[in-house]
Amino acid sequence: MSYRIGIGRIWHESNSFFAIGTRLEDFESYPGGLVVGQPLFNRPDRADEITGMLKVFSRDNQFEPVPLLGASLEPSGAITPDCVEALSDLLRGQLQASGDLDAICFSLHGAMTGETIADLDGHFLQVMRDEVGPAIPIVCSLDCHATVTQQMHQLSTALTAYRTHPHTDVVETGERAAEILMDVISGKTKPVTCMQKIPLLLLDRGTGSSPIDRLFEKFIGWDDLEGVIACSLCPAYPLQDVPQQGWTAIAVTDNDKALAQRLAEELASEVWRVRHELLPEPMLAPVTALQKAIQMSGFPILVTDSADNVGAGAPGDTTGILQALMETYHDADGLVLANFPDRQVTQIAETRQVGETITLDVAGKSDIRYGHPVPVTAEILAITGGEITDDGQFSGNPTIDAGVMVCLGIDNLRLVLSEHAIWGPQPSLFRQVGINPFEAKIVVVKSGIGYKVTYGAVAKGVVHADSPGPGSRNVANFDFKHIPRPMFPLDGDTATLHR
Ligand SMILES: [Zn+2]
Repeated sequence: MSYRIGIGRIWHESNSFFAIGTRLEDFESYPGGLVVGQPLFNRPDRADEITGMLKVFSRDNQFEPVPLLGASLEPSGAITPDCVEALSDLLRGQLQASGDLDAICFSLHGAMTGETIADLDGHFLQVMRDEVGPAIPIVCSLDCHATVTQQMHQLSTALTAYRTHPHTDVVETGERAAEILMDVISGKTKPVTCMQKIPLLLLDRGTGSSPIDRLFEKFIGWDDLEGVIACSLCPAYPLQDVPQQGWTAIAVTDNDKALAQRLAEELASEVWRVRHELLPEPMLAPVTALQKAIQMSGFPILVTDSADNVGAGAPGDTTGILQALMETYHDADGLVLANFPDRQVTQIAETRQVGETITLDVAGKSDIRYGHPVPVTAEILAITGGEITDDGQFSGNPTIDAGVMVCLGIDNLRLVLSEHAIWGPQPSLFRQVGINPFEAKIVVVKSGIGYKVTYGAVAKGVVHADSPGPGSRNVANFDFKHIPRPMFPLDGDTATLHR
């Protein structure tokens, strides 16, 4: 007999501080954003958790993968109630149409929030449980930026998260989830999970830095311990204003509750002990950051505008950094590069010619709380567009549809405007308009960590700008209403590990 495994993915990181809600149309219009049934398995160009799950289940013909649905999108605002209902209906419908399943292997992000439901990952797990009942094993992969909740823990059989940031082990995490599930189905293991919340509200500095590497190496090393299935450390998504905010240590063991408790506790205590070392790198006011970058020797120097990181749910068109660029670019010895999505500008520029001078308002169209449009007079240097390479493999697709692209030049400043927001700090977006970003003096990257993948090998320096924006790494910039308090570092050092 063969085991029928339902496989699916609902993956979204929802930013509570971005004013525009995320609708079903946003998933539908995103390449591969909404895929129902068999087409989910017919995507050889993709490399995500489902790729890993299918790889594992295809090794053994006693497993029959059954496609449910895939809904994924780059990070953006909280999910609208209509979209939650539509995705729930699709998931329910697919489960009903699939017949009897023996298990489910599912990819969740873990930081998906609705405008009216705080924990959407828990919500979708509940939809699955309502259909398949309490006895069917459900193993989920997570992004390590999951804000893990009790509901996610209680409704799943086991959870396992990415072990790299930037995330380069997405496929492997899908494989691990599938292997955990296989062992459950074959009766080899009986997972028991303990999770320990840690009152930290900060975005980790990523793997490849200390002490994150030390912490990750510690729990990854536990894979070899007798009785351990998999442990995870989830630094959460700090831009989610939800009641179960905070980092989470997770230990999954083979029917050994005491061991799971001891490991989750040990990992959480170690994180808590080094919390001061985990604080984000210092950030400077945008003008100061640019001035500092201008004075540094060599090129390219990166100025990170992480508050406007599309990969953290920001729109990509906040203007704190643009206003500062207008004040400082002329002091730079070389090209200064920045990019913004701006459909209005690309539409206007499309009706004009390369070489013409144009006056218009740039960026600042999505959410004026984070800066108004900036008036510029510039020369149109290029009008192009189309698919650009996803240099950092941030989107899971080989290319990203930038739409129409326009390069505006003001002396040594180059503003590259695209019809669509572009996920990740992509050197390809500058190459598309004929600029080699590695030869520029300054490149503004809308990125907190991902720039290490695409610019790490060439950058001669990095300066972090603290501009207003919904992706800000400075949590003090936000008015949190629902998170548990106190939190470190928001409330100073008043929080304790065990509330
Ligand atoms: Zn993440």
